[in-house]
Amino acid sequence: MSTSRRLRSVWDGCPASPRVGLSGIDSGRRECYVSGRCVRFNSMGLIQRQEKMSENVVKPWYTEGLRFACTGCGDCCTGAPGYVWVNQEEISALSAVLGCESTAEFEQLYVRNIGMRKSLREFPNGDCVFFDSQNRRCKVYEARPRQCRSWPFWGSNLRSPQDWERTCEVCRGSGKGRLFSRDEIESLRAVIRI
Ligand code: SF4
Ligand code: SF4
Repeated sequence: MSTSRRLRSVWDGCPASPRVGLSGIDSGRRECYVSGRCVRFNSMGLIQRQEKMSENVVKPWYTEGLRFACTGCGDCCTGAPGYVWVNQEEISALSAVLGCESTAEFEQLYVRNIGMRKSLREFPNGDCVFFDSQNRRCKVYEARPRQCRSWPFWGSNLRSPQDWERTCEVCRGSGKGRLFSRDEIESLRAVIRI
């Protein structure tokens, strides 16, 4: 059997460019032996993966929506140390709410630098600096950072149903209560990349 017949056994010609009219696709190696530069069509496996990816982009697993209703337990503002990222806009808003003289004063009191980024300070027990432990409430709720506003619909919590299940385990309001539509989830997810 000639090499060319073997190569033509699965794909009869280049799907990317019928003009070329050649059978450069090696069915065994699943790649085009003619042009190593053919990124788009040199592998049917690649095409299938791309189709699968675009299907997922069009229709995420939470397309029917997800439930969430905060119980106000405060668990997400307390406990193990973590980061609450803030940008300059959020720093200005928080500074104004607290009546600070300047954002520099606010930062000195409430912000710590983590590399190139800024995060809210924490108490030694890991609670957020704005968590009121007596009332178990956020002292700056109206001006809380994007990270707090968009919880639990963070990209990292939405990657898969398993990630969402883990989120429901740490946040008693997730998976219950109001049904958020896919559009609502997407717009909250886009607020910040976490
Ligand atoms: S852990 Fe969940 S339910 Fe509790 S305060 Fe945070 S968001 Fe609300
Ligand atoms: S800013 Fe408020 S909502 Fe955000 S972590 Fe701190 S206490 Fe919680």
